[in-house]
Amino acid sequence: MAVSLIDFGIQEALQQLGIELHNKGTSTGSTWYSSEEEITSFSPVDGKLIAEVESTSIDDYEKVIETAAEAYKLWRVQPAPLRGDIVRQFGEALRKLKEPLGKLVSYEMGKSYQEGLGEVQEMIDICDFAVGLSRQLHGFTMHSERPGHRMYEQYHPLGIVGIISAFNFPVAVWAWNTALAWICGDVCVWKPSEKTPLCGIACQHIIAKVLRDNQLPEGISCLINGNYKVGEMMTTDKRIPLISATGSTRMGKIVAATVGQRLGKSLLELGGNNAIIVTPDADIKMTVIGAVFGAVGTAGQRCTSTRRLIIHEDVYDAVKNAVVDAYKQLKIGNPLDENNHVGPLIDTDAVNGYKNALQKVVDQGGNIIVEGGVLSGDGYESGCYVKPAIAEANNSFEIVQHETFAPVLYLLKYSGSVENAIDIQNGVAQGLSSAIMTNNLREAELFLSHVGSDCGIANVNIGTSGAEIGGAFGGEKETGGGRESGSDAWKVYMRRQTNTINYTTELPLAQGIKFDL
Ligand code: NAD
Repeated sequence: MAVSLIDFGIQEALQQLGIELHNKGTSTGSTWYSSEEEITSFSPVDGKLIAEVESTSIDDYEKVIETAAEAYKLWRVQPAPLRGDIVRQFGEALRKLKEPLGKLVSYEMGKSYQEGLGEVQEMIDICDFAVGLSRQLHGFTMHSERPGHRMYEQYHPLGIVGIISAFNFPVAVWAWNTALAWICGDVCVWKPSEKTPLCGIACQHIIAKVLRDNQLPEGISCLINGNYKVGEMMTTDKRIPLISATGSTRMGKIVAATVGQRLGKSLLELGGNNAIIVTPDADIKMTVIGAVFGAVGTAGQRCTSTRRLIIHEDVYDAVKNAVVDAYKQLKIGNPLDENNHVGPLIDTDAVNGYKNALQKVVDQGGNIIVEGGVLSGDGYESGCYVKPAIAEANNSFEIVQHETFAPVLYLLKYSGSVENAIDIQNGVAQGLSSAIMTNNLREAELFLSHVGSDCGIANVNIGTSGAEIGGAFGGEKETGGGRESGSDAWKVYMRRQTNTINYTTELPLAQGIKFDL
């Protein structure tokens, strides 16, 4: 594995994370396998090759699954609070390594250092949440219709949980899944995005040490690397009862069909097309902060990024002018430099997607009011830095209906009541995050009601991006319907069992059925 050197302490961060030249691409904790095929990781920050990581072969995959299955036998019989203590130790290790891991996330994925640290903080938060949860994996009890009978529900672990993750949250999404799956008694096999394999290796180092220190088997946490072909090994594998897949709707449709074919369970966290409704009663200052951060944060590469601003005609010009003014202040550049607001896109394919979107919005009748463009020259050598753009558009445009994973914001005008804005907001195939900016209680409550937003996340006077781990996270429609993280999302990592116990000497049948012998 080759590691390039840049400023901002990346080399030191890699050393702190234990990433050295001998690391391979597939791991069951501390045993690393090697193979012929490689995937390459280029930093979008400076365009340098960071690492060549070996892709998991079919033979190695078999070894990983066997190791995971073996580890499961031991892990599932540990009391849940003890499993929680391992997750607590993992959270402690993350606290110590927050800075180097945040830095690696920033360098390999391209988000700002602050957001890289924020992502590691989310990992720590979900560990804390999971530790408490490890003492609360509760089921209901019900009253039986039969005398002398007791009835209740309990939850058991599923087995091996397969996690397929996207490039834009290269470490947090794994932690949301794995921290909960572990306390539930499952073991995990993770395939990170082929665009951010080093982040996966760094996380694997951290958990492998925790497992070793506790004399626990390596297979509790396994890492496999590679592109969609390695993902397919998991989705077709009957030994993996649950596949949690985060990524594009295109990928989710294939994964859902493949896992459904074998009647496995899938947890899908897919693309969004998120909107903020701005009503005449909105606080314009708050609206601008929420909209600009939502649209340009992580260079528009969050699943919850704001893509559409649906503005009432009475405040349209005021909001438009304020947002355009705010865009003039944006600094674009190296995300490890805290003075910059906008970093690079993940790669040049993403840059092409951005350019195509801007061309399409013009072709379809839109009006670009903040010009986009690809930056070149000093500091922009990777070719991945683009200018956040704004276009006035119509919700019916094909390009507006589509999630472009880049900083392109569409302004859509509505007139009349808030119901019209809600219709526009809901008038897309995706259903992840939504928001309304208003000081009008009636509008806010209508937006949150069953005839309001159809998204998994609906906010009032907050933007669309950024979510706390305490709530269940996920979206409806083409976003896939999955829920991760807080609330009762843990239930998806377990199988439910209903138990009825007869403590009498009679055997009455349910529904009063008689079966006399
Ligand atoms: P992607 O769909 O290209 O890849 C995601 C992962 O799926 C990668 O690990 C990839 O190797 C794997 N994959 C692709 N095809 C597969 C197949 N046929 N079988 C098995 N695995 C396969 O997505 P991306 O470009 O990495 O990420 C961006 C997308 O992810 C955006 O659409 C974004 O909205 C979405 N996303 C959603 C959430 C959410 O919580 N809803 C969170 C983060 C990202």
